[in-house]
Formats: sequence, C-alpha cells, structure tokens
Amino acid sequence: MRVPILDLNAQYNSIKDEVDHALRAVLESGWFVGGDPVRNFENEFAAAHSVPHCIGCGNGTDALEILLKAMGIGPGDEVIVPALTWISTAEAVSSVGAKPVFVDIEPIYFSLDVLQIEQKITHSTKAIIPVHLYGHPADMPAIMAIAEQYRLLVIEDCAQAHFAAINSKRVGCWGHAAAFSFYPTKNLGAYGDGGCMLVREDGLAERVRRLANHGQLKKNDHPFEGRNSRLDTLQAAVLSVKLRHLAKWNELRILRAARYHYLLKNSSFLLPQTRKDALHVFHLFVIRIKNRASAIQYLRDHGIETAVHYPCALPFLPAYNSYGFKKNDFPAAARVQEEVLSLPMYSEISDEAIDYVGQHLMKLDT
Ligand SMILES: *Cc1c(COP(=O)(O)O)cnc(C)c1O
Repeated sequence: MRVPILDLNAQYNSIKDEVDHALRAVLESGWFVGGDPVRNFENEFAAAHSVPHCIGCGNGTDALEILLKAMGIGPGDEVIVPALTWISTAEAVSSVGAKPVFVDIEPIYFSLDVLQIEQKITHSTKAIIPVHLYGHPADMPAIMAIAEQYRLLVIEDCAQAHFAAINSKRVGCWGHAAAFSFYPTKNLGAYGDGGCMLVREDGLAERVRRLANHGQLKKNDHPFEGRNSRLDTLQAAVLSVKLRHLAKWNELRILRAARYHYLLKNSSFLLPQTRKDALHVFHLFVIRIKNRASAIQYLRDHGIETAVHYPCALPFLPAYNSYGFKKNDFPAAARVQEEVLSLPMYSEISDEAIDYVGQHLMKLDT
C-alpha cells in the first residue's frame, strides 16, 4: 500500500464541479486582480471570525510583515517569536528591520512556553507572535494577559490553524491582529499562494489595506508608499468554495487523529495532546519518536510517506548564526527537533490507510 503524507487531488476531486464553476466565472469575467471574488472572500472570512476586517494579500509571510509594518514596528524594536516554527514567523520580523527574539516551546503542545516569555521582555519589546503550530492553538488567554501587562501587541500566526479554537473562540480572534496563509497544503489552501490578515481596529485595517496595495484605497490615492501584495482573484474564488467545506474537513481530520490515537495508544511514542479548552485542527499529526531516522526509512520501505516539521529549530539555523545560540539556550526545541515526525494526515485519507500506518508503527515499536 502507498500512503502519501497529503493528497490534494483527493480534495479537488471531491469539490471539482464547484471549483471549476467558480474558476470559469472569473475567467469569463475578464477581471483578474481585485473585484467581487476577493471582496466576497474577505467578507466571508471576516464573518467566520466575527472580526470586522479581513484584508487579502499575496501570502502568509507578507501578511505577518504587513501587519508588523502597519503597527509601526521597525528598526530598534524586538518581537517575541517561538523557537520552533516555520521560518516566516521570524523572517517577517527581520524584514521590517526589527529583531526576532526567540522563546523556547513547551514540549507537549509545541507552542510558545508562556512561562518563559516575561524573561525575554525588554524595553525594546513591541510585540509577540504566537504560532498555532500543527493546528493546536497557543495558550492565548495567558499570552494576552502578559501582553496587556507589558502593553505589547499580539499578532497571531494562524497559518497552520484555520478554525482552530480555544473555548469555542477561533484563533485569529484573540490577538490585535492575525495572519493567515492559504499555501496549498494548509487546512484552507488555495491553488497557488495566498494569504490574509484579520484586523479589529478600523484605522489599522486602513493602513494594512493601503500597505498591501501601493498605499492606495482607490486609484491614484497614495498618502504613503505601500507594496504589491494582493490576494489573487482566481485564488479568492477557490477559497470561497473551500471555506464552505473547511469546518467539515477539520472534523474529518479530528476523526483521523482519533483513529491514530486509538491505534497507537499502547506505543512508546508521544502522541499529540490537546489542551482541554482547545480545538486542535490537526494541520499535521506529529508524534515524538526515538530513532526517527530508522523509523522514516522503515515506513518509506513500506510505502508510507512522512515528513519532519522541523528538523532544525530557528535559533539553530545558519540564518541566525550571528546570535551564537547553543542547544541548551532552547532545550525543549533542541530535543523536539530530533524527535518530531509528521504522519500522513488529510481529510480524505481512508481508515484503511490510517490502520496500515498504525500497524507499521506498532511493529516498529516492539
Ligand atoms: C505556511 C506558514 C507561514 C507562511 O505562509 P506562506 O503563505 O507560505 O508565506 C507562516 N507561518 C507558519 C507557521 C506557516 O506554517
């Protein structure tokens, strides 16, 4: 049996008519940048979060960068980011001229260790970017309490956690603003790059919209310079179709995850945990496993594709050599990067495939 880690074709086949129809409507309209499909998706996504403003943009990395810039964060400022995440989270901070300050993760839920945030706050700290890694929400109530105490801004990196929630309140509704990616493999993915920003405050929303489109709200209106980072019209049309299916797709991921849990319950692997107030949407199903390299090989030999998110925590990447970090500066991230393994996970994966993966993992464990 062959089990891919992800199968985007299976999803497309399940919504082919709807998607083809939406794409054809854009092609026939002859309108390829902006227009109704973008406006409609922005309104739908804002409404799904009960947040007044959603602004589309080119990708999730731009979303983070534009929000930081719109909030006035730049040279001389520090922004707290988790040690284990996709590089975009830190990259966006550096891109606006500010300094990413890494905080270790807690090793069970893999998000920012809230107990270690305060010791990294200085007079230059302006913001925190919590990441809802793998689809599990970061501890937003605790993070917002710290932010309030120190008067920091909070930008949620929701790239891996569309419709994840804490106490039924979705991620992206907790911080001052939120960044989403619609990269094709995400829980809500376009057929190309895409992203958006959720913003609560009207003034900030206007700055964000201007920054993403050359400073203008309408033609030839440039109070300041912006850039070109827009949500593509074809992608917006696809996203509106997929948004209608997202909650159901997440439920299927949660069922698949429960099946993995059942199959692996007697194993020595550390299985993904969900905080009791949290809705985990399993963008990835990540276990911790010793002897990872040989496990990957064994699974590959049996047709099972896996991946590692991420084999090197950000502080240890060559890109951040200048900080001179050592493993024991971020002990949890250093340990976790050696053990995390992402198993096949997508809404359409069959029970049979999950069982096949589970059985092979159990064989490995004995
Ligand atoms: C995917 C991702 C991003 C960036 O998304 P792009 O659309 O690829 O720029 C940012 N943060 C995290 C945690 C991600 O997983």
